[in-house]
Amino acid sequence: MTDYDVIVVGAGPVGSTYAYKMAKQGYDVALFDMKNRIGQPLQCAGLVSTNISDTKNLPEQFIDNKIKGANLYSPDNTCIRVEKEKTVAYVLDRVMYDKYLFDRAHDAGAATFIGEKVVDVDLKNTTVKTIERKYSSRIITVASGPASNTAKKMNPDIENKTFLGLQYTVKTEEQDMNYVDLRINQELLPGFIWQIPTSPFTKRVGLFTDCSYKTAETILKGQLKSTDTIIEKHNGIIPRFNSKKRIVENNTLLLGDSASQVKPTTGGGLISGFNCAQLASKYSSLMLDEEDNDYLLSYEKEYHKLYDNEFKAQQNVQNIIRDMTEDDFNYMFRKLREYNVDRIISEYGDMDNQTPLLKQLVKTGVIFKLVPKIGVRRLKNIWKSL
Ligand SMILES: Cc1cc2nc3c(=O)[nH]c(=O)nc-3n(C[C@H](O)[C@H](O)[C@H](O)COP(=O)(O)OP(=O)(O)OC[C@H]3O[C@@H](n4cnc5c(N)ncnc54)[C@H](O)[C@@H]3O)c2cc1C
Repeated sequence: MTDYDVIVVGAGPVGSTYAYKMAKQGYDVALFDMKNRIGQPLQCAGLVSTNISDTKNLPEQFIDNKIKGANLYSPDNTCIRVEKEKTVAYVLDRVMYDKYLFDRAHDAGAATFIGEKVVDVDLKNTTVKTIERKYSSRIITVASGPASNTAKKMNPDIENKTFLGLQYTVKTEEQDMNYVDLRINQELLPGFIWQIPTSPFTKRVGLFTDCSYKTAETILKGQLKSTDTIIEKHNGIIPRFNSKKRIVENNTLLLGDSASQVKPTTGGGLISGFNCAQLASKYSSLMLDEEDNDYLLSYEKEYHKLYDNEFKAQQNVQNIIRDMTEDDFNYMFRKLREYNVDRIISEYGDMDNQTPLLKQLVKTGVIFKLVPKIGVRRLKNIWKSL
């Protein structure tokens, strides 16, 4: 007899969503988080596409702002605006949203343990050890973020490569609430800089990169206007997608950032994490009801089916971007204007599914005009993954 049907390690947005889905079905669930205050400190820009509505996981009250488009800036400050008439993205109050998702799991019947760090996950015996004691379960779902020790244990041969995310919450002069600014800086590649309005007088200014913290901080500070005041500083790590990463071993699953279920080009992990929580809960309940462990492997298979093509295409784009120089970007932005590509981006661009836009750029041959250095080999790689 085990203590629980399911133990969830990590009450971030993805772990709490999975715990809720399992508890709601009547399973005995325990949800552990080492933090005393769920959701804090903020480690997210809180920008999600409106596709999040499909996950049915976001009540309106956590939306701070609605975004219509983006101003894209080249290194020489050429600006291209891409937009749609309707809202394309939401800016979330991540701290209150995480707290809501946690409370919802608790209210659905999950036993919640906050301020309790899981120090070991035993993959053979399906037990977790906290500083207090050991707990057993039939399934362990590890959603403890990108630095998960269990993910390392399950993938001893894969280097856990991550990006740095650095962000300031800033008080600013009155601003246009409809657009986010995205800026390219060669030292940050393949990452970029964002400015996201959260209210008429506040914004999140941040970046993700694999350069050093010091360089990133200098560049980020350089983005602030003389009238801007930093209210809070945050940093966090962003995992890199790796299609070879194992996410199931015996009765233990990895989920969310622990499974690197994030978009390679932006590091965004909320929507993909929620979709994977849905898959994981579906196969966890089948495994528990039918006592057949193969169902957990189906979670892994279905996840690859859902995301591998899209994420591999995004990785290919990222590899091209990494090798581009500032001159290449300045050239590309001039050509974007010349060939009215802002219209193609506005029509086919989707924050989550970037392959339709890529297909259109490849099909029309525009990609060669934008990035002459792309080369046949790389183009073939992109085409194969589309
Ligand atoms: C700067 C930055 C900006 C971002 N911006 C966006 C964005 O705009 N849009 C977007 O979609 N995504 C964004 N992301 C990514 C997004 O925040 C993550 O994908 C998301 O938080 C993943 O959720 P999760 O539940 O898998 O993990 P996490 O949110 O990392 O939660 C993991 C939880 O596990 C707990 N934990 C860790 N170890 C243990 C342990 N041993 N025992 C118990 N508990 C443990 C932690 O305390 C934490 O609460 C951003 C990330 C960063 C760093």
